[in-house]
Formats: sequence, C-alpha cells, structure tokens
Amino acid sequence: MSNLFVRTLRDDPADAELPSHKLLVRAGYIRRVAPGVYSWLPLGLKVLRRVEAVVREEMDAMGGQEISLPALLPRDPYEVTHRWSDYGDDLFRLKDRRGVDMLLGPTHEELFALLVKGEYTSYKDLPVTLYQIQNKYRDEARPRAGILRGREFLMKDSYSFDLDDAGAKVSYASHRDAYQRIFARLGIRYVIVAATSGAMGGSASEEFLAESSNGEDTYVRSTESGYAANVEAVFTPAPAPVPTDGLPAATVHETGSTPTIATLVDWANSALDHPVTAADTLKNILVKVHHPAGETEIIGIGIPGDRDVDMKRLEASFEPATVELLDQADFDANPFLVKGYIGPNGLLHNGARYLVDPRVADGTSWITGADEAGKHVVGLVAGRDFVADGTIEAAEVRDGDPSPDGKGTLVAARGIEIGHIFALGTKYTDAFGVDVLGENGKPVRLIQGSYGVGVSRLVGVIAEQTLDEKGLAWPKSVAPFDVHVVIANKDAGAADGALEIAQNLDASGLSVLLDDRKASPGVKFKDSELLGMPTVVVVGRGFADGLVEVRDRATGEVTEVGLDAVGSAVA
Ligand code: ATP
Ligand code: MG
Ligand code: MG
Ligand code: MG
Repeated sequence: MSNLFVRTLRDDPADAELPSHKLLVRAGYIRRVAPGVYSWLPLGLKVLRRVEAVVREEMDAMGGQEISLPALLPRDPYEVTHRWSDYGDDLFRLKDRRGVDMLLGPTHEELFALLVKGEYTSYKDLPVTLYQIQNKYRDEARPRAGILRGREFLMKDSYSFDLDDAGAKVSYASHRDAYQRIFARLGIRYVIVAATSGAMGGSASEEFLAESSNGEDTYVRSTESGYAANVEAVFTPAPAPVPTDGLPAATVHETGSTPTIATLVDWANSALDHPVTAADTLKNILVKVHHPAGETEIIGIGIPGDRDVDMKRLEASFEPATVELLDQADFDANPFLVKGYIGPNGLLHNGARYLVDPRVADGTSWITGADEAGKHVVGLVAGRDFVADGTIEAAEVRDGDPSPDGKGTLVAARGIEIGHIFALGTKYTDAFGVDVLGENGKPVRLIQGSYGVGVSRLVGVIAEQTLDEKGLAWPKSVAPFDVHVVIANKDAGAADGALEIAQNLDASGLSVLLDDRKASPGVKFKDSELLGMPTVVVVGRGFADGLVEVRDRATGEVTEVGLDAVGSAVA
C-alpha cells in the first residue's frame, strides 16, 4: 500500500447520495471526471475486471463468441432502423471533420445484424451467438449514483441469430440460464421480472433486477406465485374484443379504402423521396392531418429508410388538408395523440387503449382506438407477425393488489436493472434484409435476440448489496485482493514477518494487499474496513508470541491463529 495508487478520503463526495457511490469514491476505487463519466483507479479496475471475467466465462460457456465492434459508429445503420431519431437526446451524436454524422454506440443491434448479413450466407452457419464487452454511451438525463447510471459504461451485449422460432427460444433460454449463473457467482440477490414487451408475448423480454431499496425500478411480485413484473409494464391478457362499430374506418386518402401493401407502397412512393418496395420493412410514422373543415386525424404511414420526409410532397398528396409530422415527443406531450410506439411484433403503449382491427392486408395491420378522452385515433402498424395478445397498462400497482395471474397478492419492491434479455424477432433482420439460403433453397429471414448485462453497473450493485456502516465488504468472487495483510506493530521483525506471510499467501495462489505504510494501526484498520477485502490478517501485538489475527470483513468474526496456520485460516 505504500506505493499503491490510492488515496482514501475521510469525507463523502458532495454529489453522492447512495452509500455505494460514497464509499467507492472515499475508498479510492473511482474518480469522477464529468457527470456520469468516471475513471477507474487500481482497486476499482480490479473489481471491474473480475466481474467482467465472470461474465465472459459464462458467455463463453454458453457458446457465445466474443468479438469487438467500434463504439464510434456511422449514422446510416441507425437511420435505417429510425433509432438515429427514436433514441432522442440519449444518443451521443457527433460530426467528423467532413461534417458526416456519427454516433457513439448506445447498443449495437444494427451492427451485429449487418455483420452477420455480411459473413453468413447459408442455413448451415446458424445458429450463432456473438457478444462483446465494450463501453457504451448514453447521454442519460439523470446520471446517477456514480457508476450505477453512467453516460459511459461497460456493457456485455450479445446477439443471437436463429433460423426459426424454436431456435430463437433456445438461444433466449440459454442466455437466461447464463445470466442466472453469472449473478449467482457474483452473489447478487435479484429477481427476474417481465419487462415492457407484453404485447410480444409476455416472456419475450425479461429484466433481471438486483434487490435494492435504492433502486430506480419498482417491481411487484406475487406472494404466492413466481409472478413478478416491472411496474411500468404489467401485462394483462387480451381483453374481450372491443366492438369496432362506431369507430372511424381506417382510410388512406388516395384510395378511400383499407389499403393493401401495394397501394400503400404506391402512396409512399408518390409522397416521398425514397423508393419503397413491398419487401422493405414498413416503419410507422404518424402524421396528423388537419382538414380544412377543422377536424384532424392521425394516420400512420409506412416508410422504410430514413425519416427525412419530403413534407412538400407529403402535403401535396393530402391537399387540401395540411399535414404535420409527429414524433415520440408529440406522443409524450399531447394526450390527444396516440400514445405509443411500435414494437417488433406489436404495439407497446402507455395510457391509451388500442384494439387491432382485423382488416389486415398483406401483413399490414390497422389500429383503430380511442384515447382516454374517448377521441378516436387511427394508426398503421406494419409487422409481419403482428399478434395482439394483450395490452400493457401503465399501471399504478400497489401493495395488496391481487396478482394478475390470480395467485396471491402483489407486494412492491425496488430494484436496479442488471440485465435484460430480449427476443427481438425480425425487427432488425427485416430492416437490413438479413437472410441466408435455407435448406430448401429459399431465403430464410433470421430471428435475432439481444441480451445486455451492465458490467460496470454490477460493481456498484455488488457494493450496494454488501457494504456496511464501516465501508465496502466485497464477496470473494470479485474483491480486488483476496487478503489484506496489515502491519500493526512497529517492530521491524513484525514487518518482516508480515511480508513473509504475504509472500506465502501469494505463493499459494491468493492475491495479497500488504499495508506497509508508516501510519498508525488505527488509521490502517479504518482503511482496511473501508477498502473491504474479504479477509484481513493483522500482524499486531501477538506477533511476538507467534500469533496473528484473521478477520472476516463481512461477518466481523476474528480468530487468532499461529503463524504456520495463516494459510489454512485464510483459504
Ligand atoms: P435502465 O432502465 O436502467 O435505464 P436500460 O433498460 O436502458 O437500463 P438496456 O438497454 O436494457 O438498459 O441495457 C442493458 C443493461 O445495461 C441494463 O440492464 C443495465 O444493467 C445496463 N445499463 C443501461 N444503462 C446504463 C447506464 N446508464 N449505466 C450503467 N449501466 C447501464
Ligand atoms: Mg435506460
Ligand atoms: Mg430499463
Ligand atoms: Mg433494459
């Protein structure tokens, strides 16, 4: 420790609220550079690398292959999937010296889909799971708790590609298993909850939430069944069909009738600058049409590619009405509008009720529905496998509510999201046309899954779940050092003895931190508690009698052992 690059602080950092944040800074594990941007000092980096190693081992064990993509990315792929704009202010956008738009990757579904498209051509190559452990960038509105919500953070993201639904289910399940093994090895207390994708079939997206009263996520769990859900997305099975009578029919202005893909494509081609083919994935853009008589309506238009809509041509096609392009901010700001967005296989929304009109032509579904005020809205959903199997309510669930599965009562708790597994379906492979040649010679569209673990966040989560009033208290699986040997005796012989103990432990395969500083025993003890190595060996007064103390940091248990028994007491 006399030359370790660490300075412990007596005072809590001014900007820290959570205990883990305070302690990681005070113990010299991390240092703030900017909001949500942190440096990792030696002790912190060791923990981070150990967490990363556990994640890597389990990803390798489940068959994942590690690759590394750049974090500095071109705009184009994210434009194709609309995430260049959909991601909103969270996306770090930048320009290169030629004025070309680039971004810092927040997550890499697009790039992995493109990569597989470039490399693989045959069904024989599939399935495949690729992963990376790499810094991600998100301009979070509220960076929080140090490394728990950073703007630069380390994520393990993996992506599976399968030929069929059965294969995709297997990939999903093996990720789920791998995550359970990872979090068990890290000693984390957590729950698995259904996440905001009920319309995709309930279990197609699940979050792993670490139990923590300081968490930002609220979830509910049933007292009797295994049911647990993120409160933002309590999935309720589809209600009885809502009668369509009385709802305005969905119309397209050119035809005045329910469109087929073909008429839609024609329409889009006449209204837009971009050539459109039926094979393209149709993405939902909503426009608000203002009719001269004063009434307005909202219409969804399928447009592949980017969102640079030529408004003049769009307006011309609606004349004499005028047209206003809407985006997510409008949904959020104006309760009159359709509140929602389109997921890979269905509609996710908050607030408004929707029903799916059975008038489906060529895979195009119309949605007619009403918002809370009873106003009717119309939208178009493009999606080959649209299945409306339920709705998601932004429910205010409280302790004591009955569990939606009819078993038990719900209790609310708070958690920190540490992992998220997601069956994406063909959202991205459609966008980029990721096909391989199938066994029968026909092209097969691949089915993608995406799975994330917050590696740097886990360091904060583990700290949060294990710390006590004295400081950090790492589990053995991730501690920066296995043993902390403290010289607490001014005698030169004790210093030599401590060094020998440290060397022996080191030779036995343990990593050892030796506190050889010229500080008082009191200062050294306090620091050893703050730094939180799982086992502390104190070479103190008893050394003259051939005895040292072995302290268990987590339990506080102290045992006195003879010099020759240190190795077995520590192991
Ligand atoms: P959150 O709900 O906490 O904002 P998210 O749902 O936006 O997370 P995902 O896109 O699912 O995050 O990313 C996968 C994992 O990356 C998350 O489960 C989480 O553990 C981690 N993660 C996400 N955002 C951050 C962040 N800002 N800092 C640290 N880790 C993060
Ligand atoms: Mg987020
Ligand atoms: Mg989340
Ligand atoms: Mg998530």
